[in-house]
Amino acid sequence: MAEYKKPKTKAEFDKNFKQKKPLMNDTEAFYEASRCLFCYDAPCIQACPTSIDIPLFIKQIHTDNITGASKTIFDSNWLGNACGVVCPTGVLCEGACVYNHQDVPPIQIGRLQNYATNKTIDAEKVIFKVGESNGKKIAIIGAGPAGIACACEARTLGYDVDIYEAKDKPSGLTVYGIAPYKITNEEVLKEVDYLQKQLSFNIKYNNAINSKEELAALETNYDAIFIGVGLGVTRHLGMDGEDKEGVVGAVEFIEELRMKQHEIKVPAKVVVLGGGNTAMDAASEAARMGARKTVLAYRNSKQKMGAYGFEYDLAISAGVDSLFNVTPIAITGNGKVEGVKFAKTEMVDGKLQTNMNNTFIVRCDMVIKATGQAKQGHLYAMIDDLDLDNKTRIKINDEFQTSNPKYFAGGDAVNGGAEVVNAAYDGKMAAQGIHNWLNK
Ligand SMILES: Cc1cc2nc3c(=O)[nH]c(=O)nc-3n(C[C@H](O)[C@H](O)[C@H](O)COP(=O)(O)OP(=O)(O)OC[C@H]3O[C@@H](n4cnc5c(N)ncnc54)[C@H](O)[C@@H]3O)c2cc1C
Ligand code: SF4
Repeated sequence: MAEYKKPKTKAEFDKNFKQKKPLMNDTEAFYEASRCLFCYDAPCIQACPTSIDIPLFIKQIHTDNITGASKTIFDSNWLGNACGVVCPTGVLCEGACVYNHQDVPPIQIGRLQNYATNKTIDAEKVIFKVGESNGKKIAIIGAGPAGIACACEARTLGYDVDIYEAKDKPSGLTVYGIAPYKITNEEVLKEVDYLQKQLSFNIKYNNAINSKEELAALETNYDAIFIGVGLGVTRHLGMDGEDKEGVVGAVEFIEELRMKQHEIKVPAKVVVLGGGNTAMDAASEAARMGARKTVLAYRNSKQKMGAYGFEYDLAISAGVDSLFNVTPIAITGNGKVEGVKFAKTEMVDGKLQTNMNNTFIVRCDMVIKATGQAKQGHLYAMIDDLDLDNKTRIKINDEFQTSNPKYFAGGDAVNGGAEVVNAAYDGKMAAQGIHNWLNK
């Protein structure tokens, strides 16, 4: 079990958040590529949401055709570099590798993908071509993975593209949310810069679309609009004491951590509420920021947690303790958080019940709520005839078109929260959907 010292410098921060999938060197990549069996009907391709031709790019790496390998990757996935290190490969491509059936470690597909694209990006190789202008314009709301992928694909099809982004950086949660031990800010931004230089789409930063008037202007000035706004802020729990100083939402905590790194202070004792991947990340990050005790508290059993097993193991290996079958009922403290009052939960007739006769307090100086993000319903409500499902997700058809034909959508706003690779796929396919619709 690791114990982390509070990082005081960038170098100490980088040490505590050492990359889980470091960049391969040429020799490692060559040997790893030589292990591929080039399966017929490769199961890894089926398991990749963007269907990258994995055996082909691995062969290209093996024959030192790195630019060709990158082209193969980006042709399917515009965020191919980031995905190589942030994808949960164990449940996607690498989880499907036939070596798993032979008790042999699967091919490190993600790291190979990251190796090839990194080299091509660093060498500033020009591998994309803007399509001949068709005189039409697309507006994209949100410069996250879905929005960026949509922009890239639309540029290759000859559209002018403007992205309207609320924040001052591109790539959404890839830079603001994903754990720093998976990818650095520099690497995320480098990929978008590389794409933008070749495909020249505009990003209008600090430009949130928040009013009916702004939407009306987009509708007038553009032929189609793509909604790639992801999810919103951490949901309010409505619990006693939730407004005390020291109670923060997980996405807000992680965003500050990613932007300010060693400059943020995490106190000695932290409680993280939740059982999903975001809770695991937040707990692991608090421990790596030098919290002496980080406790992860989940209302159900370990088996019922939504998080991937490997994300839980990672948090535990960072020194995080866990409490199962407990539910928070109040945050205690005089203005500032001093603890969380929990009640035990138990399954009664297949239903999770709270036992108010069995309560206890865990002392802490900070509470991180990783209990889900709100949806962007306020924005959707301003768009005429936009159908949502009962979870406030935007409904789309096979072409990624919404019930208001001018609007297309993808990424977390549609799937309710998945992975970067899903958003990248959606953005690409939505651009093709827009193209098909405008050329009917
Ligand atoms: C804590 C955390 C950790 C994660 N870890 C991983 C991981 O390890 N691997 C992985 O693959 N996935 C991970 N994910 C999921 C992944 O980040 C998302 O699935 C992906 O970023 C979704 O892309 P998106 O483009 O749909 O939305 P987002 O990435 O959320 O991007 C939406 C963009 O729209 C902008 N925006 C929002 N509203 C407006 C508006 N009104 N006007 C203009 N702009 C607006 C936002 O500022 C943002 O830039 C994680 C998510 C979280 C929360
Ligand atoms: S995009 Fe992700 S799932 Fe697809 S091959 Fe690359 S690492 Fe695997």
